[in-house]
Amino acid sequence: MEGKINEVFKSIQGEGIYQGVDQVFVRFFGCNLECSFCDTKLDFYEKKTVPELLDEVDSFGDCHSLSFTGGEPLLQVDFLKGLLKLVKQRKQKVYLETNGTLPENLKKVINYTDIIAMDFKLPSSTGLESFWDKHQEFLEIAREKKTFIKAVIGTSTRVEDIYKTIEIIKSVARQTVLVLQPQNPFEIMVKAKLDNFEQLCREEGLEVKVISQMHKMLGLE
Ligand code: SF4
Repeated sequence: MEGKINEVFKSIQGEGIYQGVDQVFVRFFGCNLECSFCDTKLDFYEKKTVPELLDEVDSFGDCHSLSFTGGEPLLQVDFLKGLLKLVKQRKQKVYLETNGTLPENLKKVINYTDIIAMDFKLPSSTGLESFWDKHQEFLEIAREKKTFIKAVIGTSTRVEDIYKTIEIIKSVARQTVLVLQPQNPFEIMVKAKLDNFEQLCREEGLEVKVISQMHKMLGLE
């Protein structure tokens, strides 16, 4: 079996609570969403077998963990499962970055993951429909691993989406860290929203952090 892979590279994790660790990134081609703020260029892919891909990963040497990202890696779940099985046999740490909308596919690979960085796609941020039921189902499966949630906050983000996010986290896995990630940290209106949303989450007893994307500021990939 072959997977459609956009790129493989080594860099520093720029988002979320593992910001700063060194990782080898395997970027999967294809996504099931079209978020308005998406800045991931996915205009080509190469087909690779699992051994070919692992050889390429090995060429970068040791690192904290291997990040399987996209696009949406769970779209190619059968290939991903074969790949992760081997990665776990090699005792490497698996970090899965996902948009959190494909719970049935997560079930197939959950045993081969260590860390899950899942998005909550707030409709007022993405410009898309809501995925609350999918996110809830996804978190119910992901909570057995080290999971944190990331939500992008922009000028259009509405407080109703934050209330819904809080409600789901509290009902499913209230210890999960919620990362509020500014779409543009230098925008004054976004800063005001972040202050407000962070306070709301804290008042509701959630562990919440405001974390900007570091790799963009450092000019890293
Ligand atoms: S889920 Fe991620 S990769 Fe897919 S469109 Fe949204 S931001 Fe882009």
